[in-house]
Amino acid sequence: QDLKNEDLKDMQELGQGNGGSVKKVQHVPSGTIMAKKIVLIDAKPSVRKQILRELQIMHDCNSQYIISFYGAYISDPNICICMEFMDKGSLDGIYKKIGPIDIDVVGKVALAVLEGLTYLYDVHRIIHRDIKPSNILCNSKGQIKICDFGVSGELINSIADTFVGTSTYMSPERIQGAQYTVKSDVWSLGISLIELALGRFPFAETSSDDSDLSDFEGTISPSQPNPLHRLPKTKEEREKAAKKNKRKSKGVSLQGGGMTMSILELLQHIVNEPAPRLTPEGRFPKQAEDFIDSCLLKDPLARLTPKDLLKHSWIEQARISTIDVEAWASTF
Ligand code: ADP
Ligand code: MG
Repeated sequence: QDLKNEDLKDMQELGQGNGGSVKKVQHVPSGTIMAKKIVLIDAKPSVRKQILRELQIMHDCNSQYIISFYGAYISDPNICICMEFMDKGSLDGIYKKIGPIDIDVVGKVALAVLEGLTYLYDVHRIIHRDIKPSNILCNSKGQIKICDFGVSGELINSIADTFVGTSTYMSPERIQGAQYTVKSDVWSLGISLIELALGRFPFAETSSDDSDLSDFEGTISPSQPNPLHRLPKTKEEREKAAKKNKRKSKGVSLQGGGMTMSILELLQHIVNEPAPRLTPEGRFPKQAEDFIDSCLLKDPLARLTPKDLLKHSWIEQARISTIDVEAWASTF
């Protein structure tokens, strides 16, 4: 229960994200393999302690669809979060390795994420806030689980203050400054599922012309309610932001089919254009198309909650589907 740095032996780098880095480690006294997330937090000791307190809620998050939590501690200036290690990694890594994911497996992913979101909200009133393929993990037992949900309000604030991140999985209402609700997670799920089924980010191919801002790689801070209103205005500011962004972030400019969409264009696109769909029509089961359409209703009032979507016929089908995710996971 009492985790400390000295007891953890580094084994392997698992990846880097906006918030920090993740390593595979062994807890030597117990022999347990864990994933250790290191988050750099530029905050007062009192804030760090508050974050640590808030993270303890994760001890009570027990579901087969949620990554288990071993503990967290402060290792100045970082906060380390130790969680269940998932040996097949995240779904973004998986599709980048093996290509588009079989739609029946995608159905199991949808089911697992909806179950996880419903558990978090019904039992703990937690909204995930960061559903995307890199936060959906898989192991060789064929289990699919979500991680990196927003348990700590202080942590969300601190990361937002110290690090400028972007989320291209953000719902239109979020981009326009509305509060997060469980329905924002449903939008992010819809985008993620298309990405898995097609093997590419769904917006990347969308063409867009105009804009003297096409050279601008914007940054969005989640702490800012309306990113579209705080993008740098002058050319100098834009260049500075682009430079900073190149250093700090993995490509926010989205490339596909030879075109590049800046983050600003992408956000405008999400707000102004029809939502992406599972295409080409007829390639995927009708029920899958319909499910994704329901996730991607632009009006949050019309969009269903994760709990309601568990009753969708595609999800009911995924629940009884005999597709062997364990066997699938053994192929890569
Ligand atoms: P992001 O989710 O934005 O990619 P993170 O810092 O959260 O950034 O994670 C970096 C990478 O580490 C992820 O893409 C994932 O592949 C890997 N990872 C995170 N948590 C785990 C875990 N519990 N088990 C195995 N791999 C993990
Ligand atoms: Mg993550």
